[in-house]
Amino acid sequence: MSTPAIRLKDVSIRFPIRKGVLRRVVGEVRAVDSISFDINEGETVGLVGESGSGKSTTGRGLLGLSHLSGGTVECFGQDLAALKRDRGALPRISQLVFQDPYASLNPRMTIGETLGEVLHVHRLVPPAEIGARVAKLLDDVGLRRETAERHPHALSGGQRQRVAIARALAIEPKFIVLDEVVSALDVSIQGQIVNLLQDLQRQRNLTYLFITHDLSIVRHVSHSIVVLYGGQIMEMGPRDSLFAQPLHPYTSALLSAVPVPDPRIERARARLEVRSEPPDPSAPLPGCRFQRSCAFAISRCQIERPVLRPIGSHDSRHVAACHRMDEPLVREALSRASHGALS
Ligand code: ADP
Ligand code: MG
Repeated sequence: MSTPAIRLKDVSIRFPIRKGVLRRVVGEVRAVDSISFDINEGETVGLVGESGSGKSTTGRGLLGLSHLSGGTVECFGQDLAALKRDRGALPRISQLVFQDPYASLNPRMTIGETLGEVLHVHRLVPPAEIGARVAKLLDDVGLRRETAERHPHALSGGQRQRVAIARALAIEPKFIVLDEVVSALDVSIQGQIVNLLQDLQRQRNLTYLFITHDLSIVRHVSHSIVVLYGGQIMEMGPRDSLFAQPLHPYTSALLSAVPVPDPRIERARARLEVRSEPPDPSAPLPGCRFQRSCAFAISRCQIERPVLRPIGSHDSRHVAACHRMDEPLVREALSRASHGALS
């Protein structure tokens, strides 16, 4: 097997909590707590979890925008720390696109000026060729060339997201972090943007980290999926295996929240709710992060932190961190809850 494009090893990202006029550090938020996973070149890993689970922090960490408190990231065989020292090396490899392109587009500049500025700053094409390259970028993301004359406010949400994608592509990166890029869009527009991203991936062999809280979207775009809760990985594996047989109660709960179009199936499903509040990342409990919200928690879950492992004869790449996931009764309850979310 070839080496993965992106490899995270025991990555932790912590933020200090400061209090008072002296801004003394009184604690820390463990936003990302020792996570490891790979992204193969030309593939997409879907990173899912509810708000506050550490998804964006992970994405920013991969781009060198959040300081790693521990662990390492390898980017196309090179250490992230070394890439960061070589100014400008990292942006040429990796780019970020996020939910609200409006916030990242200068309202006073036309789309053509915005894209042209990126090409100019990074000296990607000679000045005389910038106009032609902007036109090509607009073509690539399915926008009309006249869009170059427009300002961001004159565009729809979907068009603005296409501009944000064009701006990331301008640098010709190999890896793109897509952070909730379709979450704010209408469902019909979501599909168009997802199709565009998939076409671009195939044409250019792009590697994606696709961040979303919405499991139904991630299913369409991901080769494999990583489920995050409280800054830790609860489950990960190849997309089909994970959707066919979720191993972790949290994944099942996320799947049971995905609406099923067939009303008969919808009525027959056993709902698995995520109870209580998400964990406090500044005061993590011993044992399993998910214990307070888990319908299956036992005393062992309060004491011993479960490790990621496969079950039985299952695909060994599909792993989860749960003490009870091999128990037939738990298995059955989980598959009933996620039933129907699979089609
Ligand atoms: P998600 O993207 O899954 O919603 P985030 O990665 O944004 O989650 O946040 C994870 C945790 O880290 C949250 O508890 C959040 O409040 C905290 N956090 C994120 N960024 C910072 C920061 N710059 N300073 C302090 N805490 C932060
Ligand atoms: Mg986020």
